Amino acid sequence: MPLIIFSGLPTSGKSTRAAQLRAYLADRIAAESESAQKNSIDTDTDTGNTGAKPKKPPYRLHLISDTTLSIPRTVYDLSALPPHARSANAPEKDARASIYGAVKRVLSDRDIVILDGLNYIKGWRYQLHCEAKAASTPSVVVQVGCTTERARAVNEARLRRRESKRKRTTETTEERGQGADTGGEAPTSGGDGDGGQEQEEQEREHDGLEGDDEEPYEPDNWDNLVFRYEEPNPMTRWDSPLFTLVWEDDAEQTRRTFDGIWDAIAGQGRKKVKPNQATAQRNRETSGDYLYVLDRETQEVVRRILGQQEEGGGEVGGSVKISAGGDGKAELTVELPGKKVGLPQLQRLRRAFVGLNRGGIGLEGVGDFSVSRMREAFVGYLNDSFERDE
Ligand code: ADP
Ligand code: MG
Repeated sequence: MPLIIFSGLPTSGKSTRAAQLRAYLADRIAAESESAQKNSIDTDTDTGNTGAKPKKPPYRLHLISDTTLSIPRTVYDLSALPPHARSANAPEKDARASIYGAVKRVLSDRDIVILDGLNYIKGWRYQLHCEAKAASTPSVVVQVGCTTERARAVNEARLRRRESKRKRTTETTEERGQGADTGGEAPTSGGDGDGGQEQEEQEREHDGLEGDDEEPYEPDNWDNLVFRYEEPNPMTRWDSPLFTLVWEDDAEQTRRTFDGIWDAIAGQGRKKVKPNQATAQRNRETSGDYLYVLDRETQEVVRRILGQQEEGGGEVGGSVKISAGGDGKAELTVELPGKKVGLPQLQRLRRAFVGLNRGGIGLEGVGDFSVSRMREAFVGYLNDSFERDE
């Protein structure tokens, strides 16, 4: 079923909130299936049939994160790469491809997927939204808000913890070494080990990191991620509905937000999601350079829309039929808004679409994105935008 995409600055509390949401959803699902069972037993009693089988819970719940996929923080670190390789950042792309694969594997109308992670690239969130749409299921974005200072303090506390842990490990190793040198006389070493642990607990408590085992980000990596963060925009289809949780939100407020999320994905507020033509997935274009073909095909769609408007002699609205390319049989339809769509607007939308699909998000190898899929996706994107404008 639905996809819940977390987004936020590094160390801003995303995993904490994702875990809370998971617990909340598990309860809701259990309650839902209990009441469904009760209802079915009630009706069965009416009909005299009491041998009802227990029903399956309505939804399955999955939490996917960098941690569950063993993706290290270093994949986001551009400083480790030579300048020319930065824009391509291969490790990060690989990480995204594996996240994408993990989501795609479980996403269905019965599976609620919580994707806990930075999800800081707008084009990436767009792809995830399309993936959910293709599975006829809603997607929502949960932005975890927190001041940069606070998030930085969390990372710094984690760095300190790692540092003192390292120190302790070297100290203990050195002591062990000395103990061996002096013929096994190391009466305090056992006690020191415990003391080390105690000290660690104390430090964690002081930093508010009890029970926290997450790795820190290297300071440069952290700064850079904050700099690269692309804030969700609720005006766009792929970032909406957008829910926001801030650090200070107490249990009560958090529950209200979670109620809203449940409503959007499983309750009254749930919209019917039809996979539309914007859901084509990306693949390497085999007949030539991917970007070149993307450019050419979207230009072609723009040309036909302008052509038809001209033929229509100033008439506005209506629809434009465009062949899907490929086998030449299928047709795509652009539903024009009730006003004239000019070249500048079309070019702007085209550039935005190309920007979202230009690569750099590591999905070139996933799915199938041929000429016809490109046209479909662009037509779907245009329809989405025109509909939103009206
Ligand atoms: P992220 O997943 O964004 O890196 P985490 O969820 O791991 O961040 O949170 C970082 C630290 O901040 C954890 O130690 C967590 O206990 C603490 N924390 C997160 N959110 C809150 C909050 N709302 N109030 C208090 N502490 C929080
Ligand atoms: Mg996390």
